[in-house]
This record gives sequence, structure tokens and C-alpha cells, in this order.
Amino acid sequence: MQTTKILVIGGVAAGASFAARARRLCENAEITIIERGPDVSFANCGLPYFVGGEISSREALAVQTPATLKSMLKLDVRTRCEAIQIERATQQVQIRDLDSGESEWLSYDKLMLAPGASPLRPAIPGISDKRILSLRSLQDMDRIVAASETGMRAVVVGAGFIGLEMSEQLQRKGLSVHLVELQQQVFPQLDASMAALLESELTRNHISLTLGDAIAHFESDPNIVRCHLHSGKVIDADMVILSIGVVPDTSLAAEAELQLGPRGHIIVDEFQRTSDPNIYAAGDAVETADRVAGGDKTVVPMGGPASRQGRVAADHIFLGDKARPYPGSLGTAIVRVFETVAGITGWSEKRLQAAGHDYRTVTINDHQHATYYPGAKPLTVKILWAPESGLLLGAQVSGFDGVDKRLDVLATAILGGMTVEDLCHLELAYAPPFGAARDAINLAGFAACNCHDGLVRTTTLLPTDPQVQIVDVRPKPLAEAFPAPVPVINIPFPTLRDNLNKLDRNRPVLTLCAFGKMSYFAARVLMQNGFDVVSFGGGLKANVDPRSPAKMTTS
Ligand SMILES: Cc1cc2nc3c(=O)[nH]c(=O)nc-3n(C[C@H](O)[C@H](O)[C@H](O)COP(=O)(O)OP(=O)(O)OC[C@H]3O[C@@H](n4cnc5c(N)ncnc54)[C@H](O)[C@@H]3O)c2cc1C
Repeated sequence: MQTTKILVIGGVAAGASFAARARRLCENAEITIIERGPDVSFANCGLPYFVGGEISSREALAVQTPATLKSMLKLDVRTRCEAIQIERATQQVQIRDLDSGESEWLSYDKLMLAPGASPLRPAIPGISDKRILSLRSLQDMDRIVAASETGMRAVVVGAGFIGLEMSEQLQRKGLSVHLVELQQQVFPQLDASMAALLESELTRNHISLTLGDAIAHFESDPNIVRCHLHSGKVIDADMVILSIGVVPDTSLAAEAELQLGPRGHIIVDEFQRTSDPNIYAAGDAVETADRVAGGDKTVVPMGGPASRQGRVAADHIFLGDKARPYPGSLGTAIVRVFETVAGITGWSEKRLQAAGHDYRTVTINDHQHATYYPGAKPLTVKILWAPESGLLLGAQVSGFDGVDKRLDVLATAILGGMTVEDLCHLELAYAPPFGAARDAINLAGFAACNCHDGLVRTTTLLPTDPQVQIVDVRPKPLAEAFPAPVPVINIPFPTLRDNLNKLDRNRPVLTLCAFGKMSYFAARVLMQNGFDVVSFGGGLKANVDPRSPAKMTTS
């Protein structure tokens, strides 16, 4: 039997998953992994948690070593070895040993490119200061741990999931942390209102937050790094963590004239084949099909897609026609900040708006399990769907417990081509410690169907037209303690039916409450009494303390 020579460039998520699957499919293939760093198949997703001490064993992060990959999978792993050139015509790759400096050519039958993506380091003046760090490898992590041992002040630039995790972990370690984000919100993939809970949790944990601002330049002083922001604000730091995104590590692919997308990612087909049929690519370095936008190209630099794409490529090489294609990515992401959790799957409202898509959305506020069972905590679910078909386009969930469960169900629902109607009768696990007879996901489905059926109209904008009568149906003490940011008539819901005469039937009404539920109930009462009503969907939650118990709306 002829031996297939497989060469893999990059030995972490996509590369290692590819190589492991390849070995399981072909015992006699010659599989070599070329990895620039000293480690292979390490858990980069776990790095932030070692910094803060939640993961205490550094060894645990090195999931595999060259020795274990050799003994378990018969892989030839060459660490501290860089691929520097691909010669497609002769099917060879030039590699250089980073310790000896020696180079050699290796031939391949099939080449897998899994070079990942590097942290973005834009040409900001002063950025070369050694105290300005980013996190991708175990060595980056060691540098951050060493810096956090001596320094007391950290500035984290970028509030995506890595920036948020690093802020939390550095604060846990006892540093004073200042998080700076260019957007007006943290976790910018989310819609702003869904990120509000994370923001309040950051500030509650004494993390300073500067939103809508960015680094103009860094000034190096022997003792501190001065971070000068565009606004003129200056923040002093002993260390800076840059977490402002990643760029695909595709210079090798570009030099080999493989087809690249507009942002430099390798273009691949559904079996991860590049424009050269003998070269495959997977992970952060590639573009992939967008599951929401019917196959349009997207980029999802996350661990799950990387690992599964690697497997698809190996299947295609060794199973041929029997291989199942990679169907594309949704962009499901989740982050924990202290006690709070938020996540997204599919498209956000702002992304749908920017792309000019028609959509409908509802936000419901509920709890992760029955409120009578101890420990019930608020949970917010926002769903977006196509108006005609009812097909789900995206979802976001925030709360304390049970966010991951709802997000996973909604991601599955999107992939399953489900509509908002389907959410109403999803039969989800229920016993009081876990859920409710009507889970938050069922409620989101009910709310969407109510909108679809014309039983209620909702808005997330407070009107400026003085003709609109804004009826705050919260209990009086609550309405007084957390006043709405617009003039309102306070008619607590239980008294509404007896006070209809306080409202003018010839003028439109907007009902509002804290969490959106009572204002919906009020809208139904008023609609059936001949009023033209819109309900303030999702309630004033974003304007009140998100930790306040939702019970305050139901008295
Ligand atoms: C701190 C951190 C936390 C994360 N947390 C999460 C999370 O919670 N959830 C999630 O889904 N994703 C997370 N991610 C993202 C996830 O780790 C990546 O999406 C995934 O690792 C991408 O896999 P990859 O194989 O494409 O690239 P990588 O894992 O980056 O591996 C690429 C490897 O290729 C090597 N390489 C590149 N060029 C060459 C060359 N020319 N020669 C030799 N070797 C080369 C690099 O040294 C690198 O080791 C996190 C990432 C980081 C950095």
C-alpha cells in the first residue's frame, strides 16, 4: 500500500484535530506537524484562567505533547520549527529549525494549513514597549503572569471575550484593572442592551470601564506605560493587555498564491480545500460559510469551528466521497464575567440592520428556573427572526445561570431551521431546580408569536411625541425609586382596569414596566378597550439595576 505523506502547518486546534483524525482513518500515512511554538495542541481557551489562578496547573493546559502525540497517534511533531515557504509545483514545504537555524525541504502529498491568527498590534506610536502584551500562547501567558506578579495596574484594551476574561482574571489576582473599548459597549458582538449586565458586573467588581474611546498613543516611562486615549484621557499602567482582535496568519498562503478573501483569510470549499486541490486549510486562518446568511462568507475565529473543520479536511482526504461537508459557522460565543454570563448565536440586531435585512425581534426577561425554587436569578433572552418565514436569525442570552443552556438550544434551533413558532413548544428539561414549566425559550416563542399575530406591537424606543401617553404600570414605589427617563402617567397594572378614564382614547399609548411583561399585559387590556397601544419591549431593565429581582414587576 502506498504511503500518503501528510504535512500539517500549525499544531494547535485545527492542525491537531486534523492530524488525529487523519491517523484514525489511515494507520500508515506519514503525518508530520510543523509548529513554530514550543507547544502543540495546548488549550489556548484556558490561558486566561491560569492567569487568575482558577486553573492552577500549567501542565493541564498542555493537553498533548510531541511525546504523547508520537506514542498515541504516531505523529512526527516538530516544535520550534517554522514553515517558511510552500512550493506548490513540486509539493514541498521549506521548514526552518528555530533553534539551529537550519532549513530543509519536506515533500507532501497533501498539505494542511492551520496557522491560526495572531493578535492584532496596530502601528500605534509607542506600541513596541515590552510591557504591552497580548495573549495567544503559553509563553504569552507566562509573560503576563510574571508582569502581574510585580505590577499593580493593568490596562486591558479591547472588551471582546478575551479582554473581558483577562480583566476578570487580573482583578481576581488583585490588580487594579481599567478596561478600554472603542465601541460604546463591551462584548461588541452583542447588541448594546444585552451587554449592559456585563458592564454593571465589571463596575460592581471595581473594574474601571472606558467605552467609546481608544488608544491614541503609548508613552513609555521607566516606571509606567502612559496610555493616552483619543479623548485626552491618560491612564497609567504597569502592564497593558492588547485584545483588540486577530489577523489571520496567512502570509505563507499568500506567498504561495493561494486564493485569499478580502481580509486575507484563505478561501476554502465545503471540504476545506483551498484553491490548490492538494492543500487544505482550517481554523482561524480561513473564511467559512455563514449558516444564517445562506452560505455567504464569514469569519469565525473560535475553537469549535477550527477543531471540526480539521476533522472535515482529514475525512475528505481519506474517505473521499463519503466525507461530510463542513456546513458553515453560526458564530456562537459566550463569556463569563464574575457572576454574570452573556452570549450570542447567529446575527445580532445591529448586524442585521447594517446589512439592510428585514427582521423582527423580542426580548423577554425571566429566570433560569422556577422562581419559587431557591436561587432563581434573572435571565434575558433576545431573539431575532425573519418576518415572513418566522425563521430564527439570531439570539442573545444574558444572566447568571442557565445562559449556556438557552444559547445552545437556540443555536441548535437556528441550525435546525426552526421558526419562532417552533420555540413555543420545545419540550425542555424541567424540574424546579433546572427550569420552569414554560421555559424562557418558550416565552420568547410566545412573545414572538404574539407580535406576529398582531396581539401586541412592541418598540424599544421611547417616544418623543408629546401626543403619546406613556403609561408606567410599575408599582408606585418602584416607579418613584427608578423613574423612567421620560414623563409618564403611573398607573400600576392591578389598578389599570379601574383607571381607564385617566387616559385619552384618541391619543396613542405606550405602556412600560421594568421587564416588559406587565407592559404587555397592560397593552392587551388597553387594546381590548379600544386604545391604540404599543408596549415597551424588554422593559426599562437596561436603565435599572439589572441585579434587582424581577419580582418587582409582578406585585
Ligand atoms: C486567550 C484565548 C482564549 C480563547 N478562548 C476561546 C473560547 O473560550 N472559546 C472559543 O471557541 N475560542 C477561544 N479562543 C479561540 C481559539 O483558541 C481559536 O479559534 C483556535 O485556537 C484556532 O485554532 P487554529 O488551529 O486555527 O489556530 P491556533 O490555535 O492559533 O494554532 C495555530 C498554530 O499555528 C502555528 N503556526 C502559524 N504559522 C506557522 C508556520 N509558518 N510554521 C509553523 N507553525 C505555524 C502557530 O504558532 C500556532 O501555534 C481563544 C483564543 C485565545 C488566544
